[in-house]
Amino acid sequence: MLGLYVHVPFCAAICNYCNFNRGLFDATVKGRYVAALVREIDGGAEPVRVGSLPDAADTIYFGGGTPSLLSPDDVSAVIQACRRRYAMADGAEITLEANPESITPGLLDGFRHAGVNRISFGVQSFRDDELKRLSRVHDSARAARALADARAAGFDNISLDLMMWLPGQQVDEWLESVDRAIAVAPDHVSLYMLEVYPNAPLRDEMARSAWSQAPDDDVAAMYVAGMERFEAAGFVQYEISNVAKPARRSQHNLKYWTDGEWQGFGCGAHSTRRGARWKNVSGTDDYIERMFGGRPPAIEKRCLTVDERLGDALFTGLRLNDGINVAVLNARYAADIWRRYGADLQPFVDLGLLEVTPDRWRLTRQGLLLAHEVMAVFV
Ligand code: SF4
Repeated sequence: MLGLYVHVPFCAAICNYCNFNRGLFDATVKGRYVAALVREIDGGAEPVRVGSLPDAADTIYFGGGTPSLLSPDDVSAVIQACRRRYAMADGAEITLEANPESITPGLLDGFRHAGVNRISFGVQSFRDDELKRLSRVHDSARAARALADARAAGFDNISLDLMMWLPGQQVDEWLESVDRAIAVAPDHVSLYMLEVYPNAPLRDEMARSAWSQAPDDDVAAMYVAGMERFEAAGFVQYEISNVAKPARRSQHNLKYWTDGEWQGFGCGAHSTRRGARWKNVSGTDDYIERMFGGRPPAIEKRCLTVDERLGDALFTGLRLNDGINVAVLNARYAADIWRRYGADLQPFVDLGLLEVTPDRWRLTRQGLLLAHEVMAVFV
């Protein structure tokens, strides 16, 4: 089944490290944007053929930006549009990314009634000094309260994001955030490494304040010790950067890692379907103008070759702790993947980074730390 991604490009403030497609919130633009989203989902770009069955979908993911800046009515309008256009599975996972400072009990209640059943909080750190360095608007107490409010509102599937390798962060400071994340009892946690891109304002602040990121050995220690603490607390690592309680894996994100299909809506959204990949225009105003001017929002559409699709399936599949199901990929791509890649992969097997059986290929924990080197074989 398809996963549906809805991009919401608005933020209350711009964080000093952010490289996403976003801009400052403007209520008028937001209203027009939501109307444009509904128009796109209703079939602006690809009308449903008369008499054809609607495509089935089982996830909707509101990502951003800060989707929690939408009102419950906005979210409801988008979900209803998805239900009109797609055969949504019973119990479909509907996720909304939220920033702690923009959440209130009333909003949470409204989102739940709109159909959202999973909330993903951008917490990033439970240390206030680190949140200040990242120019985040919330503090750690606000983050903990948002999570408790979500639980009280009836959400039983709550995720949070944490970032490691922050400027000046020591291993024990990272583990303090891990422990506090465990203490607020989420169902799912994503652990990302901060990437300071070349023009990020944070880069200048790091230079001014003489903050540096920890050396590689410390980052590896942060990663391994963090994963071990989550596992000791009943989480299971199922992907390089993700841990979950039983039955709480992100069904939407699994589509990206299991050679699935997804359709994106909104500015900058990507889609991969039926062997093709495309991207919508990035600019919010450009997107709105196209949607109301009768022009398709998609640009850069191209068909993938079978080799590209297989390479992507291997590249993303190895991110999973379950790894790659060899028989499935051999059948889907009419290939013998060991014959094609075995010689290049054998050195990683010899180093203990990759486990290969006739059924599965999977990275070891040490291999997950060096995943980019193994995955380069497929690029
Ligand atoms: S809230 Fe998220 S999307 Fe918005 S500026 Fe900060 S990091 Fe970027």
